[in-house]
Amino acid sequence: MDPMKHLSFIFICFALLFSFHARAETILAVGDEGIALELAPWLYYAPAKKAGNIDAVKKLDARHWQRLTPTYNNRIGVAAFWVKFSIYNPKRHQIDRILSLANPHIDLASLYHVVNGEVIDRIIMGDSLPFTESLIINNNFIYTFQLEPNVLHTFYLKIETQGSASLPLSLSSPNSFAKDVETSSLSNGFQLGALTAIGLFSLFIAITSGSFSYSYYAGYVLSVTLLVATLHGYAFRFIWPQWPLLQQYMIPFLIPMAIFFALLFTEKILQLKHHNLPMLRLCRYGAGFSILLALLAPFLNYSLSLYVNIITVLVVTTLMMVMALIQAFKGHKLAKLYTLAWSGMLVGSFVTSAMYLGLVDLPISHLTPLMLGLLFEIIFMAAVLAIRYNDERKAKLKTQQEAAIQAQRSREAWEHAQRVEARSNEKLESMVQERTLELEIALRELNEANQKLTEQATVDSLTGVKNRAAFDKRLLAEGRLSRRQQTPMALLMLDIDRFKSINDNYGHLAGDQALRLIAQTLKEQLKRPGDLVSRYGGEEFAIILPNTGEEGAMQVAELIRQTISELPISWKKHSIPLTISIGVSAEIIERDQDPTKLLEQADKALYRAKNEGRNRVMVYSQPL
Ligand code: GH3
Ligand code: MG
Ligand code: MG
Repeated sequence: MDPMKHLSFIFICFALLFSFHARAETILAVGDEGIALELAPWLYYAPAKKAGNIDAVKKLDARHWQRLTPTYNNRIGVAAFWVKFSIYNPKRHQIDRILSLANPHIDLASLYHVVNGEVIDRIIMGDSLPFTESLIINNNFIYTFQLEPNVLHTFYLKIETQGSASLPLSLSSPNSFAKDVETSSLSNGFQLGALTAIGLFSLFIAITSGSFSYSYYAGYVLSVTLLVATLHGYAFRFIWPQWPLLQQYMIPFLIPMAIFFALLFTEKILQLKHHNLPMLRLCRYGAGFSILLALLAPFLNYSLSLYVNIITVLVVTTLMMVMALIQAFKGHKLAKLYTLAWSGMLVGSFVTSAMYLGLVDLPISHLTPLMLGLLFEIIFMAAVLAIRYNDERKAKLKTQQEAAIQAQRSREAWEHAQRVEARSNEKLESMVQERTLELEIALRELNEANQKLTEQATVDSLTGVKNRAAFDKRLLAEGRLSRRQQTPMALLMLDIDRFKSINDNYGHLAGDQALRLIAQTLKEQLKRPGDLVSRYGGEEFAIILPNTGEEGAMQVAELIRQTISELPISWKKHSIPLTISIGVSAEIIERDQDPTKLLEQADKALYRAKNEGRNRVMVYSQPL
């Protein structure tokens, strides 16, 4: 029998076993059985309130004793009670027997060995005492004794416990006991070893990969491992032998811890964050509640917290199974695997319960199916977790690849945009160049037009020679040049003789025609590019001859006079005779006012030419 029996008591409660009241006590005749003998059919109980001590109990008659049934004592929080059984050795030789109580969680069990009405031995066992005070080093409570031939041995056991009062009592020969211990040690060792290995392995993966799902799973497996070790009594024996109080609170602490981690990794495996938010919330609230329960364990009444824990286990297991089934029917692969893993665990616990209820009889320990189911669930879940981890890794890889493709696409788009921009820049540039060229051409044309306009402003409109303004400007410029270069400059003042009469005789149009012709002649007569002919006013012309002395000027003037006097000017078949008079002045300019002086002198010379009879050239001479 096994201590975990109390976890399954709920299932057992469903089996209403009818207690039958036997007046005559059944006595066990010990034989040469090879295997351990369950003492359940030979056990009788009496509540401790009827008899406080061994002497009082011994005096109780058969009416007070009742057949012990699981419905009486397998509950949690049973009041203190006595159990008795009697053994008889029908053989002729002495028999060695070992009494074993395979519930290491009973707080206090006082065993009285009575032969012929005398207490020959008394031992106290229980986990409220330090483990080191146990009689025999074993996870179960042990009592060894000898049965003399034909002697009746009666055992009284007073049970005081807050947890499960389940009494898996058995009687073995030293040989079968050793064999059983060996077998159970091996299977328990294997189971705990497997659980520890998976737990630590998951823990290492959780630490190295930072994966939450592995952390929760490691937490779950390690709490379950510690829970199983505690239930078997290994934890008390090896981990905290000096602290019986810890032994008391470890179970109500570890159960909610295991639920806490189970809820969190269920949430991860079913990927509730992506698939179902209400379920996610349910898991998290459940986990919060479990943590609260774990922390409250030391402050709650032991029986009460065990009750709450067992109800929580039932509710949460059902809840997880329902959630997993819903998600599995929705078609989530991991949910299907998860359901399968949980199913293994459930099948195991159902078989165990059925064995307790007597519905199934298998030649194995009652708890073996439950433990196998648990082992299956944990190993299978590790596989599910690995699949989930791999799926996640693949998804991450896919996302990375997609991101890389996206990056490539955006790079291409960027390059395309760059090319388009470069092209449009080129286009823009060539357009700007074109416009600039057009603008330059327009500017040049404008400049030319401007120049033409300026030139036109310096020209006399009637005759086409320079006007008075151009003459004045040129006179000043040539004057400066003459002064700087110390070269002489000459000025010719021309006036048409008796022009008034031409106007009077032939009309103003004839006069204008004469003016145009004379201007044309003057231009033709002057060979040097620096020479300037201008209409000074009315019928008067002025000529500038740069770099020309008096003598040269006289020659030019004489030539002009002669050419014009010989000009044939015709108007409406009339031939008009025309002469001019010329005043000449020439010198090197010394001061700024000198050009004006030169003008006045030429004018004076012209005046003299008129006075002396016209059609002649006169040079200015200084008055003596
Ligand atoms: P002289 O110079 O020989 O003394 O006699 P003149 O008849 O030429 O006398 P003056 O110089 O005083 O006369 C100028 C005349 O020239 C006045 C006007 O009738 C004429 N005249 C002046 N400007 C123009 C012009 O632009 N066109 C025409 N047709 N006649 C003009
Ligand atoms: Mg005149
Ligand atoms: Mg005149």
